[in-house]
Amino acid sequence: MLLIMVTVLFACSDDKQQVVHLRGETMGTTYNVKYVVPEDSQPEAGLKQKIDKRLNEINALMSTYDTGSELSRFNQNRYTTSYPVSEDTLTVVNEALRLGKMSDGVLDITVGPLVNLWGFGPNKRPETVPTEQQINNVREYVGLDKIATTQNALIKSHPMVYVDLSTIAKGYGVDEVANLLREAGIDNFLVEIGGEMRVRGHRGNGDDWLVAIEKPVSTERAVQKILSVGDNAIATSGDYRNYYEQDGKRYSHLIDPRTGKPINHNLVAVTVVSPSSMTADGLATALIVMGWDEAKALAEKEALAVLLIRKTENGFEEFTSSAFEQVVDVRN
Ligand code: ADP
Ligand code: MG
Repeated sequence: MLLIMVTVLFACSDDKQQVVHLRGETMGTTYNVKYVVPEDSQPEAGLKQKIDKRLNEINALMSTYDTGSELSRFNQNRYTTSYPVSEDTLTVVNEALRLGKMSDGVLDITVGPLVNLWGFGPNKRPETVPTEQQINNVREYVGLDKIATTQNALIKSHPMVYVDLSTIAKGYGVDEVANLLREAGIDNFLVEIGGEMRVRGHRGNGDDWLVAIEKPVSTERAVQKILSVGDNAIATSGDYRNYYEQDGKRYSHLIDPRTGKPINHNLVAVTVVSPSSMTADGLATALIVMGWDEAKALAEKEALAVLLIRKTENGFEEFTSSAFEQVVDVRN
């Protein structure tokens, strides 16, 4: 299930700077942090520990794989009264709801029961494709109108409402690690968790960090595009790697809440560039579920920096929004 659709091209550092590389595991995937410090300085002692601690905290709040997490406990409770949660969880839920509204309900953090029904959640893959009846039963407690937030709590309007933040939590983790680096006085860095990435400044020799976008194919790993994204986050969502096939049909892990079914269209990859990794992460998912035409329209309406790739009979076709062209420097 590990998706790394973006990789970074590294240059050698010159003689005055060193690039420190920290790596570890979190949120069911890996993280990489690279930062630039003067060669004669000590790499910030204890930074790795701080990063691990913060990521463990976020995971203990928002993981749906950890049955004891704050979010899992909210999901298990069957009360429709307000349920107090941490500021972190509220921040992420509120941003998900904002993007949900922006996308007309397409990004839907209550879609989890459908994700599980189709076999992509913490539960196992189903033996058979769900029936219309099963889908309709589950849809009774799916929808953005079934969840609300207050100053310090979440409220579900149906006892079975289940919130899944997996489309946006990794991005939040990236933003939080970037904040730790900034607090440590580090200005030139790259943070990546499971393909979600945030870069700032340069990569040690004064050059921009370069991000490679993969070709949206599952058969090989090849580069589609090389980008310099400034002081921004970049997220890519695609349905070409995380899917399963049954009876010759392909089932994506992305569910369109309007149909209750996995997406099935020719938009194969969406890349979003934004100051916030959480926002980029959520938007990439929202846009890919929407499909080519709607994603193009929303990108222009909301001035989102996006690159869309669709599959046609004559190969891949790309679209870049006006905002993307302003913010991103394409290197190939
Ligand atoms: P990844 O990058 O790990 O593939 P994405 O950010 O693309 O993750 O989000 C995919 C996950 O989001 C799915 O595995 C599922 O849990 C959840 N999901 C699927 N469809 C939607 C949707 N319409 N709205 C919000 N979350 C969704
Ligand atoms: Mg994502």
